[in-house]
Amino acid sequence: MDLDRPALEIWPSRIADVGGQSVHRALPKHLHRTVGPWCFVDLFGPSAQPTRIGPHPHIGLHTVTWLFDGEIVHTDSLGTRQPIRPGQLNLMTAGRGVAHAEQSADSFSGHIHGVQLWVAQPETTRWGDPAFEHHESLPRVVLGRSDATVLAGSFGGVASPARTDTPMVGVQANVRASFEAPLDPSFEHVVVVAEGSVTIEDPMTLEPRVVEAYETAYLPLGHDALALSSESRARILLLGGEPFGTEILMWWNFVARTWDEMAEARADWVTDSDRFAAVDSALDRIAAPPLG
Ligand code: MN
Repeated sequence: MDLDRPALEIWPSRIADVGGQSVHRALPKHLHRTVGPWCFVDLFGPSAQPTRIGPHPHIGLHTVTWLFDGEIVHTDSLGTRQPIRPGQLNLMTAGRGVAHAEQSADSFSGHIHGVQLWVAQPETTRWGDPAFEHHESLPRVVLGRSDATVLAGSFGGVASPARTDTPMVGVQANVRASFEAPLDPSFEHVVVVAEGSVTIEDPMTLEPRVVEAYETAYLPLGHDALALSSESRARILLLGGEPFGTEILMWWNFVARTWDEMAEARADWVTDSDRFAAVDSALDRIAAPPLG
């Protein structure tokens, strides 16, 4: 391979701990802190261990929850209590501050398997009101033997009803045989493989590249399609957007621009201020780690 020529970048996930469970974290990645507005990608499960994530705060981001298997009940400081099942989308907007808890349904005894994604909010909305959306069903596109569910933005001529604050796309596809994904050339993209493996035709080098489970492939802007294939079935996420354009800081559960903002948000959680209202949950509030 010609090392001077740009090529698809592929990186492994790293293992992180969330509520006592190991997850595969695909983003953030050094030199790719954001892909469009996407700033955090966790793949969790499949796990028989129940999810028990107590009340914790967020600022400056949307959380996007999507399950392959299982059921999780979301409760938040807006008074929402919403179970989520496979095929449904939970989208929480933190704005200036929200708190939530996530735990397996009491009646549920199977496996939990899914993704949690964070989307950075732009300056125009990040000090706004918190909000919550649940989408019972989302538009699907069938492309040959593959299918794709549009979580956010537009893909293949259909649009998700989910809120977006900046130009972006989020798709979960099941790739069988070949799959030609139409792309917006003004977006940068990643393909995150959640299960199975895919071969991507690198549009820059024209060489096939294999992307295994828990690996992420990054494609810069300027491409209007991506050809993928899988010999069995692969579950992938295709995430993209206009480059975010603003340096963000991420610490704990917060997305901000300055360390003063982080310190203030941390203090507001520690002192139980009105900024983060109470969450109806039997689980303990999660304590903020020390800053820096
Ligand atoms: Mn959270």
